[in-house]
Amino acid sequence: MTKPVILTGLRANNNLTIGNYFGGMLPLIDMAQSKASEYQINMFIPDLHSFTTPIDHTSLYDQIFHTAKVFAAAGLPLDDERINMYRQSYIPAHSELTWILDCFTGFGEMSRMTQFKDKSGNIGTDRTTVGLFNYPVLMAADILLYGAKYIPVGDDQTQHLEFTRDIAERLNTRFGELFVIPESVKKQHEFFGKDQGLRIMDLADPTKKMSKSDNSGKGVIYLSDAPEVAAKKIMSATTDDKALVKFNPTSQPGISNLIEILALLKGEPVSVTAGRYEGETKYGVFKQAVAHEVQAFLTDFQSKLSAVSDDDVASALERSEATMATQASLRLLAVQKAVGLRPRTQVE
Ligand code: ATP
Ligand code: MG
Repeated sequence: MTKPVILTGLRANNNLTIGNYFGGMLPLIDMAQSKASEYQINMFIPDLHSFTTPIDHTSLYDQIFHTAKVFAAAGLPLDDERINMYRQSYIPAHSELTWILDCFTGFGEMSRMTQFKDKSGNIGTDRTTVGLFNYPVLMAADILLYGAKYIPVGDDQTQHLEFTRDIAERLNTRFGELFVIPESVKKQHEFFGKDQGLRIMDLADPTKKMSKSDNSGKGVIYLSDAPEVAAKKIMSATTDDKALVKFNPTSQPGISNLIEILALLKGEPVSVTAGRYEGETKYGVFKQAVAHEVQAFLTDFQSKLSAVSDDDVASALERSEATMATQASLRLLAVQKAVGLRPRTQVE
């Protein structure tokens, strides 16, 4: 019996924030490790998805490799063969299945995707590519090639998951059981548990969330920030004039955000951190403590990152890519036979 598959993409981006680290990477790594005995874990780097919008291609390759290293530094075990970390473009079946699925996808169906409408609206018609239009089909191929049942999806991806289910059912109805149908969005939420709702806020404007694509970067702590620069960002974080360290995100968003950050760094509940500073009236003293902890965290993380061996990462990627290519090409061949591209008698 093969194990059911959990699949998730790790977006390539050099400038990951501490928000991405605590709210995205760590939960993903925990999930992979806790579920690896019962499920096949596919954690792939969607490099073909990286340039649906314009990017700097001179740094793409290094960014992709760097992403894999950051995950390793954050605790993803490279030597656990149950966890497959692979680059999408190294498995040509992703592109090949996409083309086949494209030819069963309605133009109108793709045109209704709200992500496309939003993103193309921002980019403008001249710079909007067919790749951006088409990327939900590539996403469907990413999922269907491995028969993945569980895919953690945020709100922005729910429509694409629904499409994946639709196209899989469409081909199954027409050609027989080619694909495993991924679970519904509701079931995905049940399976992965409710979003913890962790949101680290921007230091300069604590009413909005910290985001890696923020242009100024003033209120954002990147994993690649020099530790002393990050400490300075904490010291100049926006607070309030209440002169009391208290956890109340509504009335004191800045201070509450710093309490949250400190709690995460210390690995303790917010109530414990807040309790330790109860009655503290000097924001400088409190900020110093947070700045110190952020600085120590980044120093430690960056030294872990530089200790990750390129050779180990490369061989982990290659090992998974070989396994995944075998799985993907079996499914692709079944589809190729079904649509008439290969003789039905060809041995798998
Ligand atoms: P972008 O500005 O490009 O949207 P982002 O920083 O919002 O970048 P995403 O790529 O949208 O990051 O999300 C990556 C992961 O990081 C997701 O799991 C998301 O929930 C998590 N995440 C993003 N921002 C925060 C934040 N401020 N606090 C906690 N988790 C976050
Ligand atoms: Mg985002």
